[in-house]
Amino acid sequence: MEKKKLEAFKKRLELRRQDLRRTVNRNQADGRSADEDTAQDIADRAASSYTKEFLFSQSNNERHLLQMVESALARIREGSFGECIHCGKEINPKRLEAVPWARHCIECQEKLERGVLEEASR
Ligand SMILES: [Zn+2]
Repeated sequence: MEKKKLEAFKKRLELRRQDLRRTVNRNQADGRSADEDTAQDIADRAASSYTKEFLFSQSNNERHLLQMVESALARIREGSFGECIHCGKEINPKRLEAVPWARHCIECQEKLERGVLEEASR
């Protein structure tokens, strides 16, 4: 990939990371204060862990996305950005433009969604 293009992707990803980190941290702070309010009563504890779970699932998407963005930035550093992490083929530029943190080419993504392909650890 051209250096200029790569730099542009890097900028976009870094901005996105900043945004997501802010959101994730805010949600974490909310989760903590829910914890501090906990009374010793078991019923209250259950309610509090329910609140935490709710906050967690709410922030789970952001957290997941943040991980995707982080690993995309890592791939930029490693020089493998824009390649499918499964088959190594180049990811369609339009797809990459829309989803810069895409890790799979469209074929592998489809297989992944059908459950044919194992989700890789990164
Ligand atoms: Zn692939």
